[in-house]
Formats: sequence, C-alpha cells, structure tokens
Amino acid sequence: MMAEPMREHDSTSVQRATRGVGDCSGRWYGGVIGGHNVCWEKFARYFEVELKEVKLREGYYVMNPVKAVEMVDENTICVAAILGSTLNGEFEDVKLVNDLLIEKNKQTGWDTPIHVDAASGGFIAPFLYPELEWDFRLPLVKSINVSGHKYGLVYAGIGWVIWRNKDDLPDELIFHINYLGADQPTFTLNFSKGSSQVIAQYYQLIRLGHEGYTNVMENCRENMRVLKDGLEKTGRFNIVSKDDGVPLVAFSLKDNHSHNEFEVSEFLRRFGWIVPAYTMPANAEHITVLRVVIREDFSRTLAERLVIDIQKVLHELDSLPSKLTANVSVSVDHKEVDKNGTVVAKKTALETQREITTIWRKWVMDRKKTNGVC
Ligand SMILES: *Cc1c(COP(=O)(O)O)cnc(C)c1O
Repeated sequence: MMAEPMREHDSTSVQRATRGVGDCSGRWYGGVIGGHNVCWEKFARYFEVELKEVKLREGYYVMNPVKAVEMVDENTICVAAILGSTLNGEFEDVKLVNDLLIEKNKQTGWDTPIHVDAASGGFIAPFLYPELEWDFRLPLVKSINVSGHKYGLVYAGIGWVIWRNKDDLPDELIFHINYLGADQPTFTLNFSKGSSQVIAQYYQLIRLGHEGYTNVMENCRENMRVLKDGLEKTGRFNIVSKDDGVPLVAFSLKDNHSHNEFEVSEFLRRFGWIVPAYTMPANAEHITVLRVVIREDFSRTLAERLVIDIQKVLHELDSLPSKLTANVSVSVDHKEVDKNGTVVAKKTALETQREITTIWRKWVMDRKKTNGVC
C-alpha cells in the first residue's frame, strides 16, 4: 500500500533509504531502535542487520529520543520508533525523534529516516489521539507497519506496511510477475497466502468506518480504566502503563517478597485467565510486570470479574507460605564477615528483588525456552 505524501517530499531521505536497502556488500547497515519487541531481534538476525538498542531503565520503558539520535551514525538505515510499547503500551515520542534527527541530518549531511512500528498504536492513535503527530505528518517518517490482527480487529495473520511514497520502496525489491495474463507486482517474503484476512479487514473497515473504530477504541480505553482503578483500589499494585497509549494495564506487585507476579499469573489460570508475567529487558530486568491487553471483546463485566479474581488470588497467596523463602531468606539474613572481622552490609532490597527475579526467570525460561515479549 502506498500513501501519497501529505507534506512536501524530501528526496534526499529517499535516496538514502534506497541506498541502504540496496547495498550489496553482504551486510546491511544498522538500525537504532528504542523499545523492545522480539520481531526486531528476529529481523536483525535473519537479515544480518546490526541492531542498536537504546537501553531502558526502571520507570522509563520507551526509547529516549535524545539517546537514540545520539546513536545514529553514517551506517544507520533508520531509527525505528514503536507506537505502543509491547511492555507497557506507552507511545514513543516520534515527533521529538523527527525533530532531533532533522537537526542531526542537517549537521552531518546524512539523511537518516524513521520507520514507525505502529503494530498496535496505528489503529489507536488516529481514533483516540488524532492530534498526536507520529505519522506521515512528520517529514522523516518514511514507512509505517500496522497489525490488522491487533486493534485492526481481524483474526490472526494480517499486518501491513505503508510507505510514504512510491519511491520509498526500492523498485529492485519488487518482483513483477507475469501471471494470469496481467502484470502482478509483488513484495512479500512468502508467496502464496490466503486472502481471507484481507477480505476480513476490508469488511471491518467498511462496516465500522472511522466512527465505528473510534467507538470501539473509546470503549477499550474505558474498560482499561475500570480495570486499572480496580487494581489500584486493592492497594497492592504499582501501575506501570500510562493512561495514554495502547489500552492495556501493566502492573507489578508493590511487595513481591513472599509471592511474586509469576505466582499471581500461575494462580489466575485456575480462574481461566491467562495473564502473562514477564521481566523487563536489560537495565530494568529486576522489574516484573503482569499485562492485560484490553481488546474490543473485553467487556466492563469481564474487567470487574478479573479484579475480583485477582483479589481472590492475592488472598489465597497471602495465606500460603512463601515458595521463595528457602532461597531468599538466606540472602536477606546473610551477613558476610570479611577477613578483618568486619560485618558486611546485608543485601539491599533491590539486590534481593533481583535475586528473586533471577530465580523465577530461570524457572520460566526452563519451561518456555524463549525470552521475547510479543
Ligand atoms: C505485535 C507487535 C509486532 C509484531 O506484529 P505482528 O503483526 O504480530 O507480526 C511488532 N512490533 C510491535 C511493537 C508489536 O506490538
């Protein structure tokens, strides 16, 4: 799909993008990316692109635009901004990336463009935050991907990329096939694929229209608030997601010393809920969160029921002895005496928390053998 430029066309950026993609040195150039989604790691490995990730830190789970633009060098293919972090649903500041990058491009003579991974946000921002500039209104945004099977409201298996302009998709990547009597341009990684999802997407777009999608997204946001308020009222959780962004609630226990988020997740399964618990990526890996993504079919009644079930789980866990006591009490009460006979300080709460996370992470990894969040 092509989108016609909404503002004047910046031809130098196009050349740059084309040059990066078309280079045949055997190795692609690097890309800078902020947030974290396993699809980017996959892309980097399969296509031999060096991925430079802006490290997150506790309490700040999106790309820092200043750091991202600092990391751009002459080999950078693009800066990839994520609209709707996988971790907490927060939107990255694409406009600031755009403005800083314009400045850097001006100073260096480079023309690094931006790709926006709007897998979830692409179907949320236009309806809930129409004023937010994250798309082709920003001159450096050259391509955007969206997942139809997320907030596009289609069953699994459809996603697409939109380029700003026809020239932004290098012609050498398009195959022209003489098939069934007409020229068919194709740009895909696989070949034959059923069209049912495309038809379903088309149906949804026509059936719901702008107004329908707006109603659905507003409803999701409303139910997200019901869930968030309910969780806050328990007094037991820190909310890690933001009010603006993908309608989801990411939360962690205020106190996970005797029972942690993985246990909450495990216990919720008995009530029929599958709520993932995961640790944050590098530099914030001692933080564990539970995440509930609110979609169209997640009603207010379900949100209220989930809060009730979470309260039951907390109650149940409170009455159980800590699964971790054996492992953790050793470290909490451990006072090391060095060779001079001086007592070394006990581990800090953070160190203890890290230790608990490590134990659980290993336990989860052994079971899942995967570490990506998607
Ligand atoms: C879901 C998601 C993806 C993957 O998209 P699919 O259409 O499921 O392949 C990529 N990036 C982000 C930020 C996502 O949330």
